Parts: sequence; structure tokens; C-alpha cells
Amino acid sequence: MRTLRFWILSLICFTMLGIVFSTLTSSYFVTKKILIENSLEQNRVYSMKLAQMTEEVFSSLQNNLEARKSDVVKNIENPNTVTNILEQLNISGKNFNSLSVIDHQGIAIATAPNIGLVGNKINSNAVKEGLIKKEPFISKPYYAQTGRLLILISTPLFNGSNEYVGMLNGTIYLEEESFIHHILADHYSKDGSYVYVVDRDGTLIYHPDKTRIGESVESNPVVQKLIEEKSGALQIDNSLGSNFLAGYTYIEKSRWGVVSQTPFKSALKPLSGIMLTIFTFSLPFILIFIVAAFYVSTKLSSPLRKLAIYTLRGRDEQEESLDIPTWYFEAKQLTETIENYRKRQEETVDNMKTISVTDPLTGLKNRRYADILFDKFLDQKVKFSLLILDIDHFKKVNDQFGHIAGDEVLKFISKILKDFCVEQEECIRLGGEEFLIFLPEKEIQEAYILGERIRMTVEDSVSPIHKRLTISLGVGEYKCGETLTQSMQRIDIALYEAKSNGRNNIVIAKS
Ligand code: GH3
Ligand code: MG
Ligand code: MG
Repeated sequence: MRTLRFWILSLICFTMLGIVFSTLTSSYFVTKKILIENSLEQNRVYSMKLAQMTEEVFSSLQNNLEARKSDVVKNIENPNTVTNILEQLNISGKNFNSLSVIDHQGIAIATAPNIGLVGNKINSNAVKEGLIKKEPFISKPYYAQTGRLLILISTPLFNGSNEYVGMLNGTIYLEEESFIHHILADHYSKDGSYVYVVDRDGTLIYHPDKTRIGESVESNPVVQKLIEEKSGALQIDNSLGSNFLAGYTYIEKSRWGVVSQTPFKSALKPLSGIMLTIFTFSLPFILIFIVAAFYVSTKLSSPLRKLAIYTLRGRDEQEESLDIPTWYFEAKQLTETIENYRKRQEETVDNMKTISVTDPLTGLKNRRYADILFDKFLDQKVKFSLLILDIDHFKKVNDQFGHIAGDEVLKFISKILKDFCVEQEECIRLGGEEFLIFLPEKEIQEAYILGERIRMTVEDSVSPIHKRLTISLGVGEYKCGETLTQSMQRIDIALYEAKSNGRNNIVIAKS
């Protein structure tokens, strides 16, 4: 059978486990959400920064071209000078992989470095577009005649009469070292985060894996957003099926998109550590609560437990009064009830005991008590004498005065006997009008004298029936080894003798 303590403890532990579990679970999800949001935000901000840097570089590239444009126009008839200008530009700018001046017919006038195109007609779409547009522009990536994947940054050339004379172009080789690589390459981090750049059509312009440059990643949801000219952050499955947290920024000038992304797993890597820390921090509290739970459950159940143990005990083992801490209502009430009940029970039992050994008419002890007393004297090795006495002609009292008067006589005699008994001496009504008196520590002579005094007192007293009453007595000393009945039988013989002798006398029993 489980104890109350067990159930209280179980309840507290169950509740505590529930709280710990729900706290850890909610912490897990909150932390996960924060980590994801942080990573998305970091990547968003990062892509924005890189986009700004890229945009700035583009501006400076275009400014470089703009700055030398008038020199080029002035010397357009002199290819060597133009070549020199281009070479200077190439050295000072460093950001272009190559520079070229192309006339209005699309024929290369000068290049730096020499890439073997001078005098050739350039058929690339980018050049054609420039010749038509006649304005500054940044081309889409394309494969040039040289077989390189590149982009063209171009500015138109007009002479003094505002006639279009050609274009000044800078190229950036996407698959080789370029400013893009310088800006972005360092950002490939150990946790698997990386940056890539796509053009307006979703073609990879920059990717840490160079073999992927030129590949179309249009289907990627982030790239979709960039194509829609949007910036932001998104959790995605990339084109290769991995889960990423990506920040993306659209660059207006070049119409490119910069994406910075972190693998989902890497972003959540701190999660287990954080959860462990949370658990470690809460562990002392959990332990404190467990100890407290033990204490509280013991405290709560202790009154009831003590009460239960108390009621299990036999009466003899129970303490006089219940010492149970009753600091809450139910325990207090129960303790009081049990205490009262126990007291009442005790009183009842005591009463019953008294009743069971008491003669109701005279208030003297009865035959049952004689046996108890006899055993007690035997136990304590107390020597004693016995007096048995019987009212003479009592039947006549009943006959002449009625039963009630007879009862009154019995009470009257009992009162006299009681008055003669001192200390441990005990007077017993054996039944009818026969009485027995225990006289501990009295020898036969003393017992005889006492018997005589009783006899004389009865004879001399005024009885309830106002008639002279007498008693006959037998007296004897208890002989070692006798039962009470044997002793009484022996003394009864003396009593019978007293009756035979004419009554109202006392005879000593033969030993
Ligand atoms: P003896 O002198 O030989 O003792 O004669 P006795 O009449 O006293 O003796 P007996 O044994 O013949 O009569 C005893 C009577 O006591 C019989 C019975 O009616 C009466 N008696 C017994 N118990 C009670 C009692 O409780 N109340 C009353 N009123 N009478 C009782
Ligand atoms: Mg009798
Ligand atoms: Mg009698």
C-alpha cells in the first residue's frame, strides 16, 4: 500500500518534470527561432554590405572610365596613344582585367593588355548593345571571342561635335581573379557559410566553387526574389537540395544580386550547447526542488502517518497523549477526533471493566474480582486470611418484608463490611446474602478478631427492617497450593458449622 508521502512526492516530481520538460521544450523552440532569425538577419546585413561594396567598386570603375574618356576621344586617331592611356588605366585601376576602345563600327582600336583583338570586329552581344545604346552600361555576363566569361563596363565616346565615335570598355573576367573575387572570396567561412552573386537572369557570376560560375540557378527561391529586384532574407532549399538561411540584396547599378547564406545545420549548431547550458543552470534548482519536495512531502504526510501508526498500535503501546504536529486543519481535526475517541474508548473500557467486577446492588466487588485479587496476592506472594459470612435467616426477611426490603438489608450489611475493610482489604459479594473478605497480611487470630467485631457490629446495628439481624462467619488462612475455590470450600465448612452452632457466631476453618 503506497503512503500519502509517496503520492505527494510523486505529484510534486511529476509536476516538476512537466515544468522542466515544457521549459526545455519551449526554450528549445524559442532558441531555435532566435538562432534562425539571427542567422537570417546576419546574412541579410552581410549581403547588403557586400552589395554596397560591389556597387561602390562599380561606381569607381565607371568613374575611372569617365575620367579618361576625353583623353581617349582626343587621341582616337592615334591608336598607340590610346593604348598607352588604356595601359595607364589598367595599372592605376587594377580592377579591370582588360580595357578596350572600340570604334563606332565595332572594330577594336586599342586594348590593354594586348589580347590580340586590335583591328578585329567584335561581334559580342554586349558590344553590339553598347553601339546601339550609346550610353554607359554594365553588360550581362557573356562568353567573349577569347572564350572567357566576362562582363563589360562601358561608356560611350563622343567627339567635340557630339558625334558618336565608339566606346571605352573595361572587362571583368568572372572565372579569373577580379575585384569580385577580392571582395567576396574571403567570405567563405568554416561553418559552410558562403556568398554568391547572380546576374539579372539568375546566372552565377560569382560562386566559391568556380566551376559553377556561368550556371543558371534561376529556380532557387532567393534568386527568384532577386530577379524580382527584391532584397531580404529567406530559409531555403538551394538548387542542390541543402537547407540554407540566406540573406540577399539586389544591386541596382549592375542589376546583380548578392546572396550570403549559412547552412541550416551550422546556424543551429549552438542549439545543443545552449540547451545543455540551460539544463545545467536549471539542474541546481531542480535538485533544490527535489530536496524541498522530499521535505514538504514528509512534513505534509507526517501528521497523518503518525496518526496511522498510532491507530495501528495496541492500546498498551499508545502514548498517554498524542504528540502530533498539526499545522494544518485536516491533521489537527483528525488528531483531535482520534484523541477524543481514544479517551472515550478508554473511559468506556475502564467503565466496562469496573462494571464487570462490581456487584450492581451493593457496589461491592463480585466473585470475578475475587479471582483477580487472588491471582494478584499469589503473584505478589502476599499471605492472607479469608472471611466468609452469610446473613442468618435472610429468606425470612424477604418473606416478611419483601424483596426490596431484602435488598436494603443487603446494602446495609455491605456498608458495614466496607467500613471494616482498610487499605488492601477487599470485601466481595459472592452472591445472594453471602460475602467474602480478603484480609492480606492478617493471620488467623487477627482475622478472627475482625470477624467477631463485624458480627457484633451487625448484631448491634439498627437494620433497615428495624429488627435484629445476625450473621454467621467462617474464617481461615489461605493455605499455600490451594485454589480459591478449595480455600472457600474449606471455610464454607466452618461457616456451616457456625450455622449449626445456632448462628450468630464465628468458626475457624480447619487447616
Ligand atoms: P440460613 O440462616 O441458613 O442462611 O437461612 P437463609 O434463609 O438465610 O438461607 P437461604 O439460603 O435459605 O435463603 C437465602 C435467600 O436469599 C434466598 C433468596 O430468596 C434470598 N436472596 C438471594 N439473593 C437475593 C437478593 O439479591 N435480594 C433479595 N432480596 N434476596 C435474595
Ligand atoms: Mg446463604
Ligand atoms: Mg443465610
